[in-house]
Amino acid sequence: MAQEKSNRRVATTTPSKNTEIAKIRHSKDEEPNFYKCPSCGTNYTKLDDNFPSSQSELYAGWNYHLPVCKKCLDQMFVHYTEAYGNNEDLAVRRICEKYDIYYCTSLLNASRKITKNRSRIHTYVSRSNLTQYIKKTFDTTLDEERTNTISSIEEYDVKKANGEINITKATLKRWGVGVFEDDEYPILEEHYKMLKENNPNADNNQEIFIRSLCHLNLLMIKALKNKDLDGYTKANGEYAKTFKQAGLKTVEEKDNSNDETFCMTLGFISDYTPEEFYQDKELYKDHDDIGEYMERHILRPLINLETGSSTRDKEYFVPETEEDYEEE
Ligand SMILES: [Zn+2]
Repeated sequence: MAQEKSNRRVATTTPSKNTEIAKIRHSKDEEPNFYKCPSCGTNYTKLDDNFPSSQSELYAGWNYHLPVCKKCLDQMFVHYTEAYGNNEDLAVRRICEKYDIYYCTSLLNASRKITKNRSRIHTYVSRSNLTQYIKKTFDTTLDEERTNTISSIEEYDVKKANGEINITKATLKRWGVGVFEDDEYPILEEHYKMLKENNPNADNNQEIFIRSLCHLNLLMIKALKNKDLDGYTKANGEYAKTFKQAGLKTVEEKDNSNDETFCMTLGFISDYTPEEFYQDKELYKDHDDIGEYMERHILRPLINLETGSSTRDKEYFVPETEEDYEEE
């Protein structure tokens, strides 16, 4: 039997006093007379003073409160701060991740100055509920962090056209698409240039090491930023090891060199005017004829060896016939 259609018309979808059916909700009688903290099991008669507020829809049914009492949150913060080597920022982040709280550096900084009887996590959480952070959750954080990486060449083109980034496509390709954040590429690139300047004749193996060193240098800077002493020490140790392994030159050795030496000239040119783009071919052509030497005395015999041909050098060869002799 088909159900009869209602003739009722309402102007808005959200139920209100004027609509025939009020907002569907539990009657007051069904409300519990206490709220039990899921972590410690303590019963509280009020949500408001005992459970921190939340912006997450996950906790809508609990009148937008976190399912952890303030005391437990305090303990959790102490635990994570210890676990992360006294790094409070990381501890805050972990808790934000756990309870779907918006995480950002401005909130972190705002929560730094705390009064003696208020823990930092409570300052952070209560500020994360201010009007400017309405509806912002850890999902927002993830979205914001994602937009800082360039995930494709197309995205690069758009950002470059809008003037949002200031790195070259070559830089992006050297370090990889979607791996680093926008502001990390210049850090990598600057260190790379420094190492290349000091080691202009680095071979392919050393090139791999050089890139690793750039990664480690970035890790050190990030650890420093986060006041992550442990991370910094590890990256620093790895850096020293890799550097030694690579057999690279240190900055000190470069100090009294000048740009007139052979290597530095090439390094200098590479830095500011890449060889392939250099316009004045005459200026850097094969002045000492090393190219010709290669062709005549290395390439030619190799071709003969490989293909069985018997091409002779145009100058140094024993003539076999009179014609051969005369041709020369
Ligand atoms: Zn509790």
